[in-house]
Amino acid sequence: MVPLTVIGTGYVGLVTAACFAEMGHPVLGVDRDREKLNLLRTGTCPFYEPGLDALVAKHVGSGRITFTDDLIHGARASRIIFICVGTPPLPDGQADLSQVEEVARQIAEHADGYRLLVEKSTVPVRTAQWIKRTCALFRRSNAQIDVASNPEFLREGSAVHDFLHPDRIVLGVESDEGRDQLLKLYKSFTCPILVTNIATAELIKHASNAFLAMKISFVNFAADVCERVGADIGQVAEGMGFDQRIGRAFLYAGAGYGGSCFPKDVKAFMRMAEEVGVEAGLLREVDRINDLRIERLLAKLREALWVINGKTIAVLGLAFKPNTDDIREAPSLRLIGRLAEGPARLRLYDPQAMGRMREVFPAVPGRIEYAASPAEAAQGAEAVVVLTEWEEFKTLDFETLKRGMRTPIIVDGRNMLDPAEMAQLGFEYYSVGRPAIRHAF
Ligand code: NAD
Repeated sequence: MVPLTVIGTGYVGLVTAACFAEMGHPVLGVDRDREKLNLLRTGTCPFYEPGLDALVAKHVGSGRITFTDDLIHGARASRIIFICVGTPPLPDGQADLSQVEEVARQIAEHADGYRLLVEKSTVPVRTAQWIKRTCALFRRSNAQIDVASNPEFLREGSAVHDFLHPDRIVLGVESDEGRDQLLKLYKSFTCPILVTNIATAELIKHASNAFLAMKISFVNFAADVCERVGADIGQVAEGMGFDQRIGRAFLYAGAGYGGSCFPKDVKAFMRMAEEVGVEAGLLREVDRINDLRIERLLAKLREALWVINGKTIAVLGLAFKPNTDDIREAPSLRLIGRLAEGPARLRLYDPQAMGRMREVFPAVPGRIEYAASPAEAAQGAEAVVVLTEWEEFKTLDFETLKRGMRTPIIVDGRNMLDPAEMAQLGFEYYSVGRPAIRHAF
């Protein structure tokens, strides 16, 4: 078993730490957020991710995972150090690499002997070269610092499963020692393991995320066309998806992509391409189409309600996707912001993400209210907007929901409900890229 240090215990770092512990390795998690560490030391997961709380509790209990805010200790404790800190976007779209730089510098200043510094954070190509340069500038004379890239492809909501059963593992290495250490660590995995140079590994991650975002924007573009010509995007996507060269995954029209990865990774890839002289119009369009999604949903609300100001609107689903409490770059943030400006009266509900949303939009009686259930949110509402495809929304008691509403209007920003069923229940139903069901009240 190999002692490991994981720096940054957020969505990626904590999953990495817990899963390596589950595989039997002793793991030291380092974070500068003391509040988070206090929770972690009691075995409590600071965010919602199915299955992770049990793993954290188990391995904190067994002593296989320990936590510290002392990066110097982290630098000295293990030969293999995973960097899992944030790489948020700067205002111009470039990735902010200050957290990565700070960690690299501190490790260089304090590590002695061999250290393999593994980028797991999503970083622009050539970041490893900067890490190497930083380490060369700051390292102690007895330190030998090797750098590798091992991009992470997990999805929030199924992160533990994705980490333990990935489609592929990518190892970008520049030395035999680095390659051997990482191959040993991942030897029990049965998926393809791709060993590349570091720039290639960095690029695989950015290209993968940009491609998935492109699929979403493509289907949303096609959905806009469907609406103009009376076609159904669900069937268009199904027809496309049977083609094995295309596949069905990510061909779902709706409120667009959000989260802490796609929006920032598309922008960072675009900026990086332009920096090296490659025109990135393709990605600019992917980004622009995604940006328009909220305006398209607002247009549907106007089509249904005429005037939005002063109306009561229930929003079901605040997280950027189901099975997480993460609201970073969630479509709900922009929609709520626009509706609150209106001002509409908002009643919000999400099974997991209301705590985080309250930090951004605190409850204001009569303006923004948080409900204990979908039915409570819909009580007295003139429209319900669905923004996250939580499983529980598929099986709602729509009869009760409708009885509580002032006007039975649903705007389904995820195409998760069946139009025929909604029509039969007596709802006006608007979705994305499918014919609207409108009544003459
Ligand atoms: P996060 O914000 O949840 O976690 C980052 C953690 O790093 C925080 O807990 C922060 O306190 C800590 N940190 C920052 N600077 C530090 C320092 N100097 N010392 C110690 N700790 C420090 O971010 P995340 O969602 O886990 O993402 C991390 C990286 O992984 C990003 O580059 C992201 O793009 C990438 N990624 C994320 C996902 C995802 O689904 N969230 C998936 C794949 C890749």
